[in-house]
Amino acid sequence: MKIAFIKPNIGRMEHSLYVDEGRMEPLMLAVLAGLTPPDVECVLYDDRMEPIPFDEPVDLAAITVETYTARRAYEIAAEYRQRGVPVILGGMHITLLPEEAAGHADSIFLGDAETVWAQVVEDARNHKLKPRYEGPPGVGQLGRVLPRRDLFKGKGYLPLTLMQFVRGCRFACSFCAVSQYFDKKHYHRALDDVVREIEAQDRKFIFFIDDNIASDHKLLAEFCHALKPLGLHWVSQASLDVTRNLPLMKLLEKSGNWGNVTGFETITPGSLKDARKSPNLPRFSQYKEEVRILREHGMQSWAAFTLGYDHDTKESIEATVDFALESRFTLAAYNILMPYPNTPLYKKLEKERRHLWDGKWWLHPQYRFNHAAFVPKLMTPEELTDACHAARTRFNSVPSLFHRFADVKTHLRSISRIGAFWKYTLLFKKEIPKKHGMRFGLH
Ligand code: SF4
Repeated sequence: MKIAFIKPNIGRMEHSLYVDEGRMEPLMLAVLAGLTPPDVECVLYDDRMEPIPFDEPVDLAAITVETYTARRAYEIAAEYRQRGVPVILGGMHITLLPEEAAGHADSIFLGDAETVWAQVVEDARNHKLKPRYEGPPGVGQLGRVLPRRDLFKGKGYLPLTLMQFVRGCRFACSFCAVSQYFDKKHYHRALDDVVREIEAQDRKFIFFIDDNIASDHKLLAEFCHALKPLGLHWVSQASLDVTRNLPLMKLLEKSGNWGNVTGFETITPGSLKDARKSPNLPRFSQYKEEVRILREHGMQSWAAFTLGYDHDTKESIEATVDFALESRFTLAAYNILMPYPNTPLYKKLEKERRHLWDGKWWLHPQYRFNHAAFVPKLMTPEELTDACHAARTRFNSVPSLFHRFADVKTHLRSISRIGAFWKYTLLFKKEIPKKHGMRFGLH
């Protein structure tokens, strides 16, 4: 038996296929391959950088689906099904919208696949695939399974190892699909399992792709203690409330944490309330204290903003760029607020009849990447799209790069930090305009 694991691309530009040069390892597909019985041959095809050999004989195509890749994932599923290959779709988008997904596959997987994957493989082997499987959200890599990282060879992924410790998050931001999926809970792997996995790696630069590694401060402190002797450099995603726990900040620094992706979201107090961004709300004063603490601890932060709330204007979006430049963030993402299916934000906009693209931007043939998908309150959709694009362009300009780089507390701390700053900032400077306005899917 042979299974093809597929990571779909987002789509294409007007003239050619989009190749994502900032692509990272698709960790969860390697975990599933690790859970597959050893007599089954596993192959990985990454649509972001290689053509999928649809005519190669396989017994099952397993496709992971995010909202951004749904259109392309359904195209890939159709190619396999035309050739008589059964298809199973999984991932967060499928769990949020099972009815939509069921029309594009022989089987769908809702929730986390770990506990039920062996059954899926057995059923596929016996040609008895069920239309729907369900696994409860929970702890990752059960049974101490290790990802099949050998499948990543030759795919040109960024030189950092992806790993996971915590899944889910205790907060409930209004736009967040993670919070919806995990029902405001988080789950973590046993610490000694994670340490064992780290020790098996040659590479000592790790990205923990946890939804929010700081969801539980006590747990994060234990994690830092366990990491300290391993001599790693690591990054992750962490909510801003961590800056209010100074002993934890010290521990993060000592454990080799170079910085994290952090959702600042907005500097407009009304918008912060719209986002229900509770980790950012207490004593809000334009993040001055939080940024000072991050810099004091040497964090090379990647600030994530979501723009387009009911209190946002073109001017307030420009002001977020001023703030990010003053803070000398390593990277910043200026994301248009996206109504992900079934989130509180989606439902609110539906009630107010403010959705564009028939309320299904991820499938609409005319929708373009990074364009507004709803009617904002204080701007037109085009103004919101343009303001976000202008914010990205200004933040990634050459003068901005040099201004942000000149920070002895963070980027100039060591030769390796300098190297990381230039490698990733230049990569994002190149990638961001490439993606803007891209179509979803190939057809
Ligand atoms: S803190 Fe981050 S992961 Fe948690 S609910 Fe908010 S956006 Fe989602």
